[in-house]
Amino acid sequence: MTDLAPPRAAVDVVRALQEAGHEAWFVGGCVRDRLLGRLAADWDVATEAEPEVVSALFPRVIATGLQHGTVTVVADGLPVEVTTYRVEVGYSDGRRPDAVHFTRELEDDLGRRDFTVNAMAWDPLTDTLVDPFEGAADLHRRVLRAVGDPVERFTEDGLRPLRAVRFATVLELEVDAATRAAIPATLSTFRKVSAERIRVELVKTLASPRAAWGMALLAECGLLAECLPEVAAIDEGRWAQTRGALARAPEPLIPRLAILFHAGGGAGVALKRLRFSNAEQRAVLHLLGFRDLEPGALGTDAEVRRTVAAIGRGAFSDVVAYRRAWGAAPWDAFEARVAEVRALEAPHAAKELAIDGRAVIEIISEPPSRRVGRILEALLERVWEEPTLNTEDKLRALVREVAAGVSG
Ligand code: ATP
Ligand code: MG
Repeated sequence: MTDLAPPRAAVDVVRALQEAGHEAWFVGGCVRDRLLGRLAADWDVATEAEPEVVSALFPRVIATGLQHGTVTVVADGLPVEVTTYRVEVGYSDGRRPDAVHFTRELEDDLGRRDFTVNAMAWDPLTDTLVDPFEGAADLHRRVLRAVGDPVERFTEDGLRPLRAVRFATVLELEVDAATRAAIPATLSTFRKVSAERIRVELVKTLASPRAAWGMALLAECGLLAECLPEVAAIDEGRWAQTRGALARAPEPLIPRLAILFHAGGGAGVALKRLRFSNAEQRAVLHLLGFRDLEPGALGTDAEVRRTVAAIGRGAFSDVVAYRRAWGAAPWDAFEARVAEVRALEAPHAAKELAIDGRAVIEIISEPPSRRVGRILEALLERVWEEPTLNTEDKLRALVREVAAGVSG
């Protein structure tokens, strides 16, 4: 069984603040996750003490978000975010508060939070729960509900609707009717949210075992057309297939993104707009390059090695996961054949051969040119036919013969 108790170091942070005479509580996600029996990602602390006071109390602190009242206390190697009770005033841009004020009242701090299940505080020393918005009852009923008036709260910060879908997906909750109805009503505020914040929530939704359910909800409440118009545009039948594939895909993000863009295209533009890293963009597009790969297509051993080399060792399991998710094709047989040919161990590129361009130049006594690269590629083809050729001596002996068949 997993240990759901808070780490001792995090409890020590709460205790030290209390012993210095300040209120201190675990708040937000960790309180919720503990009630759900889920492993909390991080143990956030809220306190009445102001940031300078918190900083002075602990030997190792990082001034993470001092202007927002957050300092990170490094307790026995564990980073614990300690945030001073605060209220937020004015959201004139729909993205962030105009000002943040510290407050002495825990309930005011809880009241600024997005959903009832995220607006609870728990004292681990006395086992006291503070739950002014009935978040525990909502968890019990498995409902996600905004704190206060949902239209108002979604108009303050346009990201909250997407967070609603993310939490409902990940925590296996239903979105309360009024909260759900506020999503289409506040889409104009959602449009002001930065691509980075949207990406974070989308990635968390896609990583869930319920990603297919979450994508359906996103589409139904109009958020998919805002975040990913390329995906929202595909027809009903393909959208159903896409959700089926998502439900079958294992958790890694890259194959799931490839599945999402498989039917409609537009992956390059969409991923760039959402500021996915260059490596992530490249990886997804690489997978989509194998959209027509069929497990039965492997012929000779050399063909197996050629296919595996085109996919690349690093991308192999992602490509298989992406293609496998579409249905009942014999991918186990494909993987078995690749393993039998030991194709993943064969050289995948000319630079992995047992000789290099310098050796080729020396043997053919020619100046460096593109021809040298083509000779190396031809040697690689020979190695795919017969892997035991990949030794320095054997390849050196082959260079002249292979070079004769490579034009200048
Ligand atoms: P996770 O397990 O994904 O970290 P979390 O609940 O900790 O979930 P965070 O995004 O880390 O979510 O935020 C921590 C807490 O801060 C939330 O539980 C919520 O109380 C509050 N919060 C975060 N973002 C917002 C927001 N945009 N509007 C209102 N409250 C928010
Ligand atoms: Mg968190």
